[in-house]
Amino acid sequence: MTEFEIKYRDCMGRICNFRTRHGIVETPNLLPVINPNKILITSKELKEKFRAQMIITNSYIIYKNKDLREKALEVGLHNLLEFDGPIMTDSGTFQSYVYGKVDVDSIEIVKFQRDIGSDIGTILDVFTLPNEDYETAKKNVEETVRRAEESVKFKDKMLLACTIQGSVYPKLRERCAREISKLDSDFYPIGGVVPLMENQQYDKLAEVIISSKMGLDPSKPVHLFGAGHPIIFPLAVALGCDFFDSSAYAKYADDDRLIMPWGTLKLDELDELPCTCPICSEYTAKELRSMDKKVRFRLLAEHNLYVSFNEIKKIKHAIKDGNLWELVERKAVSNPYLMDALRVLERKKYKKWFELFESVSKKRALFYTGRHTIHRPIIYRYHNRLFNRYRVEYSKAVILPESKKPFSRYYKHILQKLPSEVGLIVNSKLGPVPIELDEMYPIAQSIMPDKVDRETTLICRKVLKKFLDRLEVVSIEDGFESIGSLNKKSGNNFDLRRIRATVCMQFGKNADKALLKGKIDIIKSKSTGKIRNIYSNNKHILSMRASDGLFTLKIAGARRLHSFFKFPSLRVVVRNECRDFILDGKNVFSKFVIDCDPQLRPLDECLIVDEDDNLLAVGRCLLNRIEMLSFNYGIAVKTRESLS
Ligand SMILES: [Zn+2]
Repeated sequence: MTEFEIKYRDCMGRICNFRTRHGIVETPNLLPVINPNKILITSKELKEKFRAQMIITNSYIIYKNKDLREKALEVGLHNLLEFDGPIMTDSGTFQSYVYGKVDVDSIEIVKFQRDIGSDIGTILDVFTLPNEDYETAKKNVEETVRRAEESVKFKDKMLLACTIQGSVYPKLRERCAREISKLDSDFYPIGGVVPLMENQQYDKLAEVIISSKMGLDPSKPVHLFGAGHPIIFPLAVALGCDFFDSSAYAKYADDDRLIMPWGTLKLDELDELPCTCPICSEYTAKELRSMDKKVRFRLLAEHNLYVSFNEIKKIKHAIKDGNLWELVERKAVSNPYLMDALRVLERKKYKKWFELFESVSKKRALFYTGRHTIHRPIIYRYHNRLFNRYRVEYSKAVILPESKKPFSRYYKHILQKLPSEVGLIVNSKLGPVPIELDEMYPIAQSIMPDKVDRETTLICRKVLKKFLDRLEVVSIEDGFESIGSLNKKSGNNFDLRRIRATVCMQFGKNADKALLKGKIDIIKSKSTGKIRNIYSNNKHILSMRASDGLFTLKIAGARRLHSFFKFPSLRVVVRNECRDFILDGKNVFSKFVIDCDPQLRPLDECLIVDEDDNLLAVGRCLLNRIEMLSFNYGIAVKTRESLS
């Protein structure tokens, strides 16, 4: 069984622990390819110098060479390659693409990988080209699935990678992924993408990854097979790829080319080496050129590995900081074909899909990078919730221009006179913001330039227009008295309006009616003046986090939401057998979850209930529904407070 557990996440990207028989590997990760026929950089060096955790080699090459084959069977793969970490093997599928065919049986090669002790073996899938016609691609998918079905019977203790094919047809990719997910497979390579990489068809590549991911079981690692150039790493990780392999480091070096995070450079055309790796720090371009080919090959390969591994580090850092989309957008600026790929992600069906996996708040502020930013899932969600969850409590609206943040402080003088039937709407660069939502992530936590691009402006204008649809827009041009004169008997309490609005955005429409009953006491921070704790009829129901302006739910609040919202709203359902465990305050493990509200997102507050819908505790989701139901390892919900 695959042991795979999410530690950190951002977009569809994830930092996971993946267990193999030769140790735990942290994703996302890069597997350098070792050619057993000509070892350029030894596995020992890969491990010590580049901190490679896992390597990949081709079992077909070993199988075809009598000496290598016999030695591998005799001493095992790990001794053959002198590597004590996990080793993945490929099956010869790529050779079948390069040479037209391979002379090995699809079962034979799986058995061989198993017998030489590969940690992760790969099926012999049918490589399908991007320009293949639909019928052939379909036939190849069927044959790939058939071979996978056969192969899993022979894997024994080896983890088996079953490759997703389907050319550039999204439906075929998704179907292949669904079929493969039903099998006892442990690892999912997305195959047939090398020609897309070579031709920089990143838009097609993005579609292939997304449609494969849509069909795949999310609880197992995904490997973008043959994609070794770091230019694609951030995008691929953001779309949910966990592993890459690189033969590119050697291939490019052999060709006197330097891999850079943003593209490739030819040594012959360089005066300066625009890189800070140990190789480029030690030598000049001229010195490298004057070297013996063999020495240069080796040094360029090292540079290529440094750059590739460094890109993985950047991505991990971005995931932990919650700004992976930003990294993807910034990278797209360096390559027009990547911009085409970002366009693909803006399709509605894909945005909907990404939104499922997007955390409700992040560690860092949202940074604007250009016209792509407005399409990020977190903004898409904000706009949706404005229409589906936020309740408009007023009949008239005053539109205010974007000001310094927080808006409510800047427009305090207006707020003080605000009658209850008037709403203040800030025409912000992220779309309309009812002023009581100004502290909620990502509104307060966003950094936008003074002027934004036209596309962002148009989208925001459209959303604003729709929002104002049923409201009478009034002006304050004649001074604040005109607003004051609209209605004097307001008795409006802005803090309460903020609480009601935030609660609805966070827990669903009318959640305020469930939570806020009788006497409401609001405790504010003495230093910042911000809302901290909320008591309703002397019961502590909510606390507001200063970092993202969202609420953490207390058990008294959870009780009220539980009796107000029908099953399965806001709930994570756990097996009855772990009732005591949860009541004891322990976290909810994925394997104990039997159902979950499809509306819950990572980092959402949730109600933990047993199979009979008895409330046990309140907690914070780490996974969404699809993930909770698929994962067998790791924590699904962090329990905060239990009933007992
Ligand atoms: Zn370098």
